[in-house]
Amino acid sequence: MRCPTCRKEDPFPPWEGMLPLMGFELLTRAQQCTSCGELLIKASECRRTERLAAERIVARGIRSGREFTFVRKEAGLRANEVAEMFGVRKETVSRWERDEVPIPRTAAYALGALFEHPKLTRARLEAFVQP
Ligand SMILES: [Zn+2]
Repeated sequence: MRCPTCRKEDPFPPWEGMLPLMGFELLTRAQQCTSCGELLIKASECRRTERLAAERIVARGIRSGREFTFVRKEAGLRANEVAEMFGVRKETVSRWERDEVPIPRTAAYALGALFEHPKLTRARLEAFVQP
């Protein structure tokens, strides 16, 4: 492996510390380039810390469009899927995500539920549109 910043070769000693993500300081494991100090973070570790950040946001309550988008993507949902499940137009979700209109607390809560309990929440939301 080469450092993407300075092109130095291995080895890169392990590094562990707090890194900011979505307003949270999260314990992150990486390797550090001894030449330029660049932190090299594995994709799996990025996914782990992103999941953790989303969990923290949901626990505290989704409060901004940026957080809504982040949690939606962590839940593996497209904006149009969320719109359909919540009974709103796709444009409405876009407006929430751009902070053009306030996100209804019920929508923020429902997205958190979709993140934490995807199958159960999806089934319950879809039950509203069953004949
Ligand atoms: Zn380097």
